[in-house]
Amino acid sequence: MNILVTGGAGYIGSHTCKELFRAGFQPIVFDNLSRGHSRAVKWGPLIQGDLSDRELIERCLRENQVEAVLHFAAFAYVGESVSDPGLYYRNNTGGTLNLLQAMKTVGVRRLVFSSTCATYGTPVFLPITENHPQQPINPYGQSKLMSERMILDFGPAHGLQSMILRYFNAAGADPEGELVEDHEPETHLIPLAIRAALEGTALRIFGTDYDTPDGSCIRDYIHVSDLARAHVLALQRLLDGGASGIHNLGTGKGHSVLEVAAAVEKVTGKRLRQEISPRREGDPAVLIADSIRARSELGWTPTHDDLEEIIRTALRKPG
Ligand code: UDP
Repeated sequence: MNILVTGGAGYIGSHTCKELFRAGFQPIVFDNLSRGHSRAVKWGPLIQGDLSDRELIERCLRENQVEAVLHFAAFAYVGESVSDPGLYYRNNTGGTLNLLQAMKTVGVRRLVFSSTCATYGTPVFLPITENHPQQPINPYGQSKLMSERMILDFGPAHGLQSMILRYFNAAGADPEGELVEDHEPETHLIPLAIRAALEGTALRIFGTDYDTPDGSCIRDYIHVSDLARAHVLALQRLLDGGASGIHNLGTGKGHSVLEVAAAVEKVTGKRLRQEISPRREGDPAVLIADSIRARSELGWTPTHDDLEEIIRTALRKPG
């Protein structure tokens, strides 16, 4: 069964293609390679294209007899979204609208959407459930929330069945070493901490004056292969005729920046130089998921939820 995977050359998309293939599906990647890598497309064909090209999307859906779409393609740098919001609304929100219109035209009615805890904004309670108010504090979160709203409106209007998955902090890499986390520029804590430890450079700690036990920010790090499995479960549920749904994906456990730094030292066996820096704008003190719904409705359980194990998989190189 052919599944179109937009953004399938990216970090989470490529890990999901592996999981799809393993579950017996045929992923067909649709990616403009602006941020993804063709070397990460290993489990099916790559169609190089942009979501602004509606005709191309329609052709891909039709010619490949696509049964469902997994939609990852998006820009995901919060800072960039603040300095260039138009880029995010055009690519993320506009791209999603084009995809939805193309799916409607061709009659593809199942969609799993890659959303984010950034749609919640600053938490008003913890852990964050799916019913937490959604008040994004940056254009990236807004662009994803607007996409969610469009998807939900296409349900009753056009019979679209959807699963919206809101990830917390995606981390780690394929435990079998076939894929790596490969962002340029890299802004995420775990790869930066590993790089600093291995190269002997300093890791900047963005704020140690938060209202948390050690003063640094707390995040819920969820292994990318666990995210990938959740997508396959969500897809299977839609194909089995299950109702549309919205699910948080996290472990429910929080780790502070200083704990991550200590774990990186332990796993690499190297001392990590730390440079205490000012807070990064827009960082809430604590983000932790309540993922009970995904566990009960999708039958999903994170299996790589040990921080040191996540870091170990992030260390591996392909080959
Ligand atoms: N962080 C840090 N130094 C870095 C990168 C990130 O202290 O060089 C902190 C950041 O402020 C946040 C946490 O690490 O509290 C996770 O940041 P990341 O960018 O990995 O993910 P985000 O939470 O922004 O999605």
